[in-house]
Amino acid sequence: MNSNHLSDELLQACLLNELQQDDMVDTHLRFCPDCRKRLEEYRLLFTHIKEVETEPYAFDSTALVMEAVVHYAQKKQKRKALFYWGGLLFLVVIIGSFSIPFIPAVLAVFRSQSLITSLLFTGTAVAVFLFLWTDLKRQYKSKEEQLFKNNLQPKL
Ligand SMILES: [Zn+2]
Repeated sequence: MNSNHLSDELLQACLLNELQQDDMVDTHLRFCPDCRKRLEEYRLLFTHIKEVETEPYAFDSTALVMEAVVHYAQKKQKRKALFYWGGLLFLVVIIGSFSIPFIPAVLAVFRSQSLITSLLFTGTAVAVFLFLWTDLKRQYKSKEEQLFKNNLQPKL
């Protein structure tokens, strides 16, 4: 067994053609299966590196990541929406069942007022509700835009 094997640097230089024809190296390689094996391993490694270099990205990694992020966000949003509407329904049922005994009293208040006053009350309530609702939606949308359009999307 040859105790004086070729160094890694020497083997790499061989492959990269940095070495002039070297009889010592050639002879050693001819008689040493260990170094031939190592040389072959380096050759494989180098060809693989070259392949990777010539084909840096066959796919758009940014697009893939963005797709995953958006998919995750949509999934999370769906779950959130389900949670939201479920909670809202639950609240409506609870509050509704509690307020059933008070409905006649509330109706009596409206009945004691004139029709115009009642309509004014109802109209104001509906207007305030709609205003709050649209404001809430607008705020939510602007937050969503900040999150997904401005910060995370790759600049094209
Ligand atoms: Zn050797």
